[in-house]
Amino acid sequence: MKIKKIDHIGIAVKSCAPALKFYEDILGMKSVGSETVEEQKATTVFLPIGDSELELLESTSPEGAIAKFIEKRGEGIQHICFQVENIEEALRELKEKGVKLIDETPRRGAGGAKIAFLHPKSTFGVLIEISEK
Ligand code: ZN
Repeated sequence: MKIKKIDHIGIAVKSCAPALKFYEDILGMKSVGSETVEEQKATTVFLPIGDSELELLESTSPEGAIAKFIEKRGEGIQHICFQVENIEEALRELKEKGVKLIDETPRRGAGGAKIAFLHPKSTFGVLIEISEK
């Protein structure tokens, strides 16, 4: 598999609005619109930085993964996303190599990207997302 770059870093927040005040008003970054991804029960806002982005994630349901993450660990970095050349091929290879996968087949992420998550038990505690755009 070929990892091209760090696509984005996902940050779980209770609410995007006050977080955006910090990233935009204080750090001077600029968000590029928000999107609710029903499948992930989250609203996402992307803040481009150079060739990568930050992804703010606000839960739309107490049952969502983001709400559960915040309940357990508080707000903060939730996942790191690597952009890959071919996500199906990457998933096949990772499975072959014994990596525990949360998604065995790609699902739809924000911006229409194909995404999949690897299990933190296989990645030294980091929730890794891979994505193909
Ligand atoms: Zn992400």
